[in-house]
Amino acid sequence: NAINIGDLEKLLILGHGNGGMVYKVCHKDTSATYALKIIRSNVHRALSEVSILRHATDCPYVVGFHGSFENSNGEMAILMEYMDNGSLETALATNGTFSEERLVVVARDILNGLAYLHARNIIHRDIKPANILVNTKGEVKIADFGVSKVVSHTFEMCNSYVGTNAYMSPERFNPDAYGGSYDGFAGDVWSFGLTLFELYVGHLPFLEGGERLNWATLVCAICFNEPPSLPETASVEFRNFMACCLKKEPSERWTTTQLLTHPFISKDLRSY
Ligand code: ADP
Repeated sequence: NAINIGDLEKLLILGHGNGGMVYKVCHKDTSATYALKIIRSNVHRALSEVSILRHATDCPYVVGFHGSFENSNGEMAILMEYMDNGSLETALATNGTFSEERLVVVARDILNGLAYLHARNIIHRDIKPANILVNTKGEVKIADFGVSKVVSHTFEMCNSYVGTNAYMSPERFNPDAYGGSYDGFAGDVWSFGLTLFELYVGHLPFLEGGERLNWATLVCAICFNEPPSLPETASVEFRNFMACCLKKEPSERWTTTQLLTHPFISKDLRSY
């Protein structure tokens, strides 16, 4: 049954990002709760997000989609499944760093989501803790497809995205060092690796002790240093897994399908 936007009541603000505001809303008739993202500018971004969410509704690792609305002012609203435990960024800030046992589960779910997307030629391009949502059922889902891209075939190069963030891979900061082009899937794997790194260590590599983000330092470190590695407290499997995610050369970096076979992920859950 299609949901009418007039039947939704705003309860509270869940977050805001580049795209707009996200509200927790309640459907008056059914009392069901949803998340409603309202995008005031950049309708193009909203339309591309909707088309990706609509095509991924059968993936349990991508946030659920329940419809989209457009009003006469050109505002777009996207109705999504409400993830009642918020993002991994919030979880890190409130509960502190994640144990390796917890990260195995989180990593496997994110990887399953990324593998699903990559198999359909969708590159997320903004994987980071704030864009991974969790709920009390223990589900982990990828959200925010505002800057994602669908490539028409796997060899299409996509260095068109001009955004910058701290989770970007060396080949996105410095395309010329990698032949000037790359397919983009490996960039998601790098950002995924940094996401796990941050959740385990508490901060991004090269940003010790929550120091303020200094772009010049960060970009130089990512492009010219050895790739970041996990501390000795992490298991051998975890450290090796991280090294496979953070290979500087994108063609050597493991794909999502390869990573799903890595012992860190594929180890029997009961061993924990
Ligand atoms: P933007 O594209 O503006 O960055 P996001 O989609 O990343 O917006 O959402 C911003 C924040 O809102 C997220 O980090 C999260 O805290 C919250 N949020 C987004 N979608 C949901 C959802 N479906 N359920 C619960 N919280 C959400």
